[in-house]
Amino acid sequence: MAIPQNPLIIGAGPAGLTAGIELVKRGVAPRIYESSMEVGGLARTLTDGEWRADPGGHRFFTQHEEIMDLWKSLLPHDQWIALPRRSAMLVDRHLVPYPLVGRDLLTQLGFRSGVRGAGGLVWSRMRRGMRAVEKQQTFREWGVEEFGRYWYRLFFDGYVRKTWLADPDHLASDWANQRIKPIDWRRPGTRNGNHDVFRYPRLGPGQLWDAAAARLVEAGCPPSLGSRVIGLHRDSRGWTIELENGETATGDAVFSSMPLQTLVHVLKPAPPKHVHAIADTLRHRSLITVAVALPKAYDVPFNWVYTPGPEFRVGRVQNYGRWSAALAPAGFSGTHLGLEYFTLPHDDLWLADDDNLRAIVQQDLRMLGVGELDPEHLMIVRSQYAYPIYETGRERNVVRIRDYLRENHPAIHPIGRNGMHRYDNQDHAMLSALRSVARYFGEQVDPWQVNTDLGYHETGLLKN
Ligand SMILES: Cc1cc2nc3c(=O)[nH]c(=O)nc-3n(C[C@H](O)[C@H](O)[C@H](O)COP(=O)(O)OP(=O)(O)OC[C@H]3O[C@@H](n4cnc5c(N)ncnc54)[C@H](O)[C@@H]3O)c2cc1C
Repeated sequence: MAIPQNPLIIGAGPAGLTAGIELVKRGVAPRIYESSMEVGGLARTLTDGEWRADPGGHRFFTQHEEIMDLWKSLLPHDQWIALPRRSAMLVDRHLVPYPLVGRDLLTQLGFRSGVRGAGGLVWSRMRRGMRAVEKQQTFREWGVEEFGRYWYRLFFDGYVRKTWLADPDHLASDWANQRIKPIDWRRPGTRNGNHDVFRYPRLGPGQLWDAAAARLVEAGCPPSLGSRVIGLHRDSRGWTIELENGETATGDAVFSSMPLQTLVHVLKPAPPKHVHAIADTLRHRSLITVAVALPKAYDVPFNWVYTPGPEFRVGRVQNYGRWSAALAPAGFSGTHLGLEYFTLPHDDLWLADDDNLRAIVQQDLRMLGVGELDPEHLMIVRSQYAYPIYETGRERNVVRIRDYLRENHPAIHPIGRNGMHRYDNQDHAMLSALRSVARYFGEQVDPWQVNTDLGYHETGLLKN
């Protein structure tokens, strides 16, 4: 008799939906449980009438052909926009293009500043050349070595403190090589051809994930929304998930994109105390995105602008009009912005109510020089589990939980950004889901090997 295959999926973000589509493709009907009332997770599109907002400014790029093929199969060609990456840092009232361009650094902030920066960089590079052995670095050590002390302090120290809410001396640097591009000494745009161009769904990132959910509905596997998983029990029949609304479902395997530490805490039989203790060390930063529509048009030629200075509470500002005109109602001629506030669960910003938040936004808009808040429209989204924090020791702790699960509960497959507690983009979250499904079907692949390369990877394939 054939073994029944009835897997369960926790979460309908990019990882959960990709796992669902791959299972269907292989002839299995999964059941998908999503706690919120929307699909797409961190990469959903917020909507209010004809207004749309992207919670994080999601660029679509990948170095993996299978992911590109899946994206293309979900959304027709005319629904994708190709955009050049144009971002800047607002430093000393200057918009300095980012990734940093050598020419601009030498001149844009004044001659003295340019000389100090270049001198610091040369000195750091000489010291690196003299070092005998490679060693694990903190973010500050990495930044000083990569950019020189002066440019590190100007551009990264304050920004990392504001966005990571941690002292750069206490942060590991393993994510930095992937995410922070070295100084570009050549003319921007000539490096690696068109690699700084990315794709974007016309109606924001969630358009893709709505299409993914529609495919699952067609296949008879609609994600169950408003279905928070609060328990996961193993018995003789397999794994049973318990939902907040009291319902239960049983299956032979579980693909989980819920935060890894939550997974450990809801498991029964309960893992040993030391595994719980390790899970407790895994923390997240949270994000509040406030989308505002200003009646006046400001011609800012960037998709987004970083605001590292202490004069701003906001950490980054998305210029939605530069992403897609379709994020605003037809005929809108003002400025549509997304202000991103990085915070920790339960700190004062996270707990601020909408009125307090509006006052903070107002103050930031004033500092940005765009005057009083007179929004035709305002949307707020709070994402509690936005960024897995990369503290020193994180990697070792995640490996210990992974090994515990593998040894004791091989039918549980952690997938995606929070599911594996790492700084995944959509493509890596999806790839971990594809590899986990392959493993479920007995293939010898390791989903934990996804996103372990240390090189800069914010580039990718761009094909029609
Ligand atoms: C500010 C920001 C900017 C970003 N920019 C980019 C970018 O430019 N390009 C890019 O590719 N990626 C970007 N990302 C990353 C991208 O958003 C993630 O990689 C992707 O969303 C991860 O997908 P996931 O399914 O693993 O997790 P999530 O998107 O977090 O989805 C997990 C889902 O599980 C659900 N869930 C959690 N717990 C439970 C539970 N107990 N029961 C049921 N459901 C549950 C959640 O509600 C959620 O819907 C960005 C992220 C942020 C925060």
